[in-house]
Amino acid sequence: MTYRETLKSVDTEKALALLGIEFESQGGYAKFACPQLDCEGKAAIKEYGDKKNLFYCPKCKSSGHIISLVMRTKGIDWNAANDLLLKAHNNPAKMITEELNVTYELFYNDFIKARGIEEEMCRMLEIGVPKGKTMLAGSVAFAVRDAKGMKVAYYGIKMKDGKPVFHSSFNPELYLYNFCNIDFSESVYFTTDIFRCVLNIGNGKQCVCNFGLPYLSEAQLDLLHQVEHIIFLVEEPLVKTLAIQMAENKMNYFRFE
Ligand SMILES: [Zn+2]
Repeated sequence: MTYRETLKSVDTEKALALLGIEFESQGGYAKFACPQLDCEGKAAIKEYGDKKNLFYCPKCKSSGHIISLVMRTKGIDWNAANDLLLKAHNNPAKMITEELNVTYELFYNDFIKARGIEEEMCRMLEIGVPKGKTMLAGSVAFAVRDAKGMKVAYYGIKMKDGKPVFHSSFNPELYLYNFCNIDFSESVYFTTDIFRCVLNIGNGKQCVCNFGLPYLSEAQLDLLHQVEHIIFLVEEPLVKTLAIQMAENKMNYFRFE
């Protein structure tokens, strides 16, 4: 694998964790203590896109990439650093090709109601709290369909802390929630918040969601390429990230609301 391919394929957060480097993820960047010995600044490494896995410290102006960071941290040479990264990089789950043969018995409750989502909508989209012992117990589960409408997984949001939960066979980067129900010639709303997405659908809007990721993955950008008019409903820190991604990928008309 060439060095560029390594930079592209390595999961930034996993690599930093592998190196024991503490970081804080923020709008598509991971911030960590600058590796220069005499610098107390914070370096920022990009987690996706063209400059993925390149870092820069605004304080001492030093820069580098994930491979040089491994060399420096572990005291190993280029090839060893490259191998270490590739070995540690688990291939994320691929696109699911067979329909999910599990159907949860789902219940509507006050937690869902408090988010303004009606029971009727939950029945239609297969949303609710699963009964019995499942991985998604204690979560609100959402049936996920691929672009053709085939059910591929359940995605859950824990009611206790709002954290996502799903099986490792499901890679959220490969899907957009509710994309199978979209009419491309009409405006499509986008949100990272799946509850907000369902609320919008209930209000008669076309809406999709990227499962809370702080960026759009390549597969998600591909899906959105088919949409003529996209309206982003996202929090302030994400506006810049998404605007850059949309411009870099020559997307169709979009605006933020
Ligand atoms: Zn620095």
